Amino acid sequence: MYWNSEIETIDRAALEKLQLERLKKTLRNAASTPFYSQRFAESKIDISKITRLEQLRELPFTTKNDLRVSYPDGMLAVPRDEVVRLHASSGTTGKSTVIFYTKTDIEQWADQVARGLFAAGIRRSDVFQNMMGYGLFTGGLGLHYGAEHLGCLVIPTATGNSHKQVELMQDFRATLMHITPSYSLHLAEIVQGEFGIDPHDLPVKKAILGAEPYSEGTRDKIEAIWGVEAYNNYGLSEMNGPGVAIECEYKTGMHCVEDYYIAEIINPETGENLPDGEIGELVLTHINREAMPIIRYRTRDLTRFIPGQCECGRTLRRLDRMTGRTDDMLIISGVNVFPSQIEGVLMGVPEVGNNYQIVVDRDHNLDRLHVKVELYAKMFTGDIKELDRLKVSITNKLKSVIIVTPRIEFCEPGTLPASTGKAVRVIDNRKL
Ligand code: ADP
Ligand code: ZN
Repeated sequence: MYWNSEIETIDRAALEKLQLERLKKTLRNAASTPFYSQRFAESKIDISKITRLEQLRELPFTTKNDLRVSYPDGMLAVPRDEVVRLHASSGTTGKSTVIFYTKTDIEQWADQVARGLFAAGIRRSDVFQNMMGYGLFTGGLGLHYGAEHLGCLVIPTATGNSHKQVELMQDFRATLMHITPSYSLHLAEIVQGEFGIDPHDLPVKKAILGAEPYSEGTRDKIEAIWGVEAYNNYGLSEMNGPGVAIECEYKTGMHCVEDYYIAEIINPETGENLPDGEIGELVLTHINREAMPIIRYRTRDLTRFIPGQCECGRTLRRLDRMTGRTDDMLIISGVNVFPSQIEGVLMGVPEVGNNYQIVVDRDHNLDRLHVKVELYAKMFTGDIKELDRLKVSITNKLKSVIIVTPRIEFCEPGTLPASTGKAVRVIDNRKL
């Protein structure tokens, strides 16, 4: 079943034709902004001469810094009167950037999110508890409007206030939650520990997870603890917000809303486009937006296109799980390490609990990697030798993946800082 079968099962040639039409319109719109009028004047290609989709590749990239420099409205393409809302990024990597929306932009975003939720099997009969931050952050309101558009009953609980979350979930029989992976694990502990309930006994059957990188192992863990089907949802404020790509019921990658976005994968070092299937940095062009068109935006997120067709019949291409951000990468003693590699190993170890933290220090000019790993409570009541064996085993597994040898410290449940929004897993003391 499709929300919009014409678009979702469109053939490639027809999609590319639509993309080209929308791209040309978007470029004309962008050219009316102070930022892009200058950018296009300096670029090798005249935007009015674009006749093929590939020519987009001749235009320069837009970076987060460009958005910062043109703050507050150097990229605004419509009169102020037509703007009905603004959002800002979370500022995970510095000063946040601001995005504007017209009424049409908001309606189209809601439609796009509704399509994604529908693909994940969500229907109007679902009760949708939205545990993402409301406010400037796009996560809360983005899915809120989409789920309402689909016809769900939306409970706008936002993040935190965990006791209330559980009560509302029980009282209004929420069947679906939208939550960060890290908060879902924390909330499960509260359900078990403070309410004495098995999360399986709650009415929630599905979860939409997003806003931060997480591994397949973490998804498995969340599904097992909660007894839910969990679907990955990717987005970023620069491109509206969540709903750029959402998994369908087959959970084999996120269908990118290609009638709204042109997605490219580039080599982050050279800027060259990579062949399909290779991992690189995702670059997005929004081709269906009025207030703030952004061309070739470097997301800094690493992923790839999954080759082949999805069994659901949607022809929109699938993006793989993000393996991290280019700026997440830690260089430890000269070796490139992604936090997602560490998470991938930890979540594959059955004794490992729901939380971990990565700390990097520099001691006498040597980098030291320290990984604090939460174990399930039962591990602290048994044989101490068992813990030693586990420590050696985890150290070796990590070493074989990341090359660097970490120092492992085991922690009891609840002793590491828990997050209700985007988790902060890495503390790099070398930068302080
Ligand atoms: P900030 O860049 O300040 O965090 P946003 O609030 O717009 O701004 O967050 C968007 C970012 O969140 C994405 O660029 C990506 O790094 C991360 N993100 C969002 N959804 C996912 C997801 N499903 N998997 C991995 N990372 C995600
Ligand atoms: Zn599919």
